[in-house]
Amino acid sequence: MQKLDPRGRKVKILATTGPASNSPEMLRRLFKAGADAFRVNMSHGEHAQHAKTMAAIRELEREFYRPVAILCDLQGPKLRVGSFKDGKAVIRHSGHFTLDRNPEPGDETRVELPHPELFGLLEKGQRLLINDGKIRLRVIKADDEKILCSAEVGGVISDRKGVNVPDAEIPIPALTEKDRKDLAFAMENGADWIGLSFVQRPEDLAEARKLMVGPDGKPRGALCAKIEKPMAVRRLDELIEMSDGIMVARGDLGVELEPQEVPPLQKKIVNATRLKGKPVIVATQMLESMIESPAPTRAEVSDVANAVYDGADAVMLSAETAAGDWPEEAVTIMHKIAVQVEQDEDYVERVRLLDTPPDPTTADALSHACMTIADTVPIAAITVFTGSGSTARRVARERPSVPMLVLTPEMRTARRTALLWGAHSVATKDIGSFEEMIAKGKRMALRHGFGTAGSKLIALAGVPFGTPGSTNLLHVVTLKGDELDKRED
Ligand code: PGA
Ligand code: MN
Repeated sequence: MQKLDPRGRKVKILATTGPASNSPEMLRRLFKAGADAFRVNMSHGEHAQHAKTMAAIRELEREFYRPVAILCDLQGPKLRVGSFKDGKAVIRHSGHFTLDRNPEPGDETRVELPHPELFGLLEKGQRLLINDGKIRLRVIKADDEKILCSAEVGGVISDRKGVNVPDAEIPIPALTEKDRKDLAFAMENGADWIGLSFVQRPEDLAEARKLMVGPDGKPRGALCAKIEKPMAVRRLDELIEMSDGIMVARGDLGVELEPQEVPPLQKKIVNATRLKGKPVIVATQMLESMIESPAPTRAEVSDVANAVYDGADAVMLSAETAAGDWPEEAVTIMHKIAVQVEQDEDYVERVRLLDTPPDPTTADALSHACMTIADTVPIAAITVFTGSGSTARRVARERPSVPMLVLTPEMRTARRTALLWGAHSVATKDIGSFEEMIAKGKRMALRHGFGTAGSKLIALAGVPFGTPGSTNLLHVVTLKGDELDKRED
């Protein structure tokens, strides 16, 4: 059976903050219940509140001596209709409805669509889905001024409801004016990850990257592409290549595609991302009923469990923790599901159903060796010495049966790897020699609860120390148990 890190699991929990969880007290409870990373959703709320939330999360890091990842999620080019005379209107089933460029309040026959890009682009037969797909329109006739539709499914439409246009590639930039301001805010406030919504093309990611460069010319934060457009699915491999992590954004993906298309895609996206050795997050509606109920449905429990069996790096909570009545219970249940799955004797085998052959590099050969050594002799943990986190990602890619204790002089690496499968990261002073490395590895393992007297550790590093891409050293050591001291690390 596999060994567990102090959290008792390898998969990570990403919890979205919001009115239900913004207070330092609730953030603390979510962290203690098992949240390893927090998502700040820039679609809602004000910068002033987000800044307070982020500061409170950093406070937790200090209190618990455990790096936490903050993911600022940009709204992206979400399309919305204009407003209505009475705040809302009813679109009749199989009636006609027109979207136009007239800013006057709408009624049951028409409304403004304040996105000039869509006029002259949409064609007969294409779909417009409103309010999470609840209203379904099909284009009958479109020109530069008007889009006449038939309502395949009607319903109540209200002010500024979201519109999905799954059948067209929309020539709008990946980052709106608001996104640019939100991104600048996120960078200034030390976000570790940026989530980019409605990505369509690799260029969208390149554009975000440019804006993430700091005054010193270095990238600030890692970039997570949210896969929620059919266009993104089509160019998945290129998008994975261009990003640092991937989110399976099942909410919008299930609107833009048919819901039954999401499960096979989820598996495909998880596998493709794992193969590249980047973290992949499964998101949306995982414990949806817990927004209102203290207990999940069996189907939701199964959904979370299956994402864990599939080897996702992280599972996410959205409205459950952002706006629900049971935020702490949702994290607790998610944690329990993950622990249960990972204790299943078949878990390691299932996670490794995906074959991830090592690339022909020394780093991958050694990462693979870490995995096979831990399968052969009892090992308490793999201590990975890394600057950028790259070695930790390659080891995690092997999905070893034991946890990784990631030791890095870079706080930002320690924080970023809070979303990486199996990584327990500690920011610690750099090491200068082999002896120092072994001594520190042992000390840290004891301090963080990875093993006791007699436990074996694997140490993985690159010499000369501090040279990126030099992973070339694997050493197996045995803890005596008296290596723990009060040294400042
Ligand atoms: P959202 O993204 O919650 O920002 O919409 C996730 C999703 O669409 O699933
Ligand atoms: Mn979305």
